[in-house]
Amino acid sequence: SGRWVRAAAIVGEFRRGCGASTEKLRQVAEAMMEEMNKGLASEGGRKLKMIISHVDTLPTGDEKGLFYALDLGGTNFRVLRMNLGGKEARAANKQEFKEVPIPLHLMVGNSDELFNFIATELAKFVSTEGDNFRISAGRQRELGFTFSFPVKQNSINSGTLMKWTKGFSIADAVGADVVAELTRAIERHGLDMHVAALVNDTIGTLAGGRYYNNDVVAAVILGTGTNAAYVESAHAIPKLHGLIPKSEEMVINMEWGNFQSSHLPLTVYDHLLDIESLNPGEQIFEKMLSGMYLGEIVRRVLLRMAEEVSFLGHIVPLKLKIPFILRTPDICAMHHDTSSDLSVVENKLKEILGISKISPRKRRLIVVLCDIVATRGARLAAAGIMGILKKLGRDTIRHGEDQKTVIAIDGGLFEHYTKYRQCLESTLKELLGEKVSKTISVVHANDGSGTGAALLAACHSQYL
Ligand code: ADP
Ligand code: MG
Repeated sequence: SGRWVRAAAIVGEFRRGCGASTEKLRQVAEAMMEEMNKGLASEGGRKLKMIISHVDTLPTGDEKGLFYALDLGGTNFRVLRMNLGGKEARAANKQEFKEVPIPLHLMVGNSDELFNFIATELAKFVSTEGDNFRISAGRQRELGFTFSFPVKQNSINSGTLMKWTKGFSIADAVGADVVAELTRAIERHGLDMHVAALVNDTIGTLAGGRYYNNDVVAAVILGTGTNAAYVESAHAIPKLHGLIPKSEEMVINMEWGNFQSSHLPLTVYDHLLDIESLNPGEQIFEKMLSGMYLGEIVRRVLLRMAEEVSFLGHIVPLKLKIPFILRTPDICAMHHDTSSDLSVVENKLKEILGISKISPRKRRLIVVLCDIVATRGARLAAAGIMGILKKLGRDTIRHGEDQKTVIAIDGGLFEHYTKYRQCLESTLKELLGEKVSKTISVVHANDGSGTGAALLAACHSQYL
């Protein structure tokens, strides 16, 4: 029928708009590398901030002793401790953690209240330290703090909060040194603990990955948002102005979610999503590929089909007009529906949008939409990784046949969206070619951000 043809045409047009051919991805990778160079050259209004993390030493595996970590960056926060026994004992390290939801009123209260709550939970956790987790005599306990909000880092263990995101809004903490705030709260609770490192989730994941595998050179977060960090030669960072650390290396927090380029395959749906977002003009790369937005892009295309060609019946489902009602886990479930009659799609449409009697042919077209959006996202993530590999000169074989490069990836999107992960991995192979792709691998660094902070506390310990 005419309606079906017009619906298919909308999807076809969207598919063409999302097109991420190999050629286009190469241009994206090239542009990523160029922006990396610009961000490393000077501070200022760049697309990529390329933040100097002050992490110039990564764990080697030789670290020993008891270390704590605190991971704050979403609705939960985690406290954990690790007893490190050196390289031989790496796989058998003793580790304990506790996850605590943050009461909503503390997310919008004042700084003292939030940090008092955190210190209280930390003190409770320390008090359950068993015989397996003894601290060496005369030593202070040390902690790594993963704080995944935009921070102006002043040293490995100090940094001022630039702004809150993700639902936090605590005015008197903005502009404050979050390590100083935490340290004061720790002291108020009579705890004897030193904050040795302040990092974000990306850098934690890099450190956690490197601890187990010396070939890890970069980390990527694919969760609600997206970001990447990698190890750069200090000599390749003009804005360090010759302040070369002993290791001659520096971990760079790219903040790649803010990448933009004329080569990105943006559609009218992306433009509208951006304009109507809380941060128009910002985080364009993130809005195309991270978990917060994939479902929302599908919703926007589906809404247009409902409005223009009555794709979901004569009345446009009211719920379909609610921004973000279709979440990425929902489109993931529909995308992976293997039932012959697409009953998962049917149930999702009913449960989320309150609509039924959608024909199998239409359900299939909805799966196609999910596929278009997830495929574009995964292919762009691969192009971003390709940009980092190019920057490091690891997109070709330079260091002989046994050259190995590993990228550590964490985040709920990468962990749970199988087709996304598979597409990312196959696209990376496509971009690298068969020979080089044998030297590159991607690993899932599970909870790298928490354990990574404890490991960074160990290799930036005051006792070294
Ligand atoms: P955060 O990024 O907030 O620190 P996570 O790394 O756990 O937290 O990622 C959570 C995100 O992962 C969610 O916002 C969602 O977009 C995505 N996600 C979670 N579960 C799934 C799933 N089953 N399928 C697809 N995406 C998922
Ligand atoms: Mg996280």
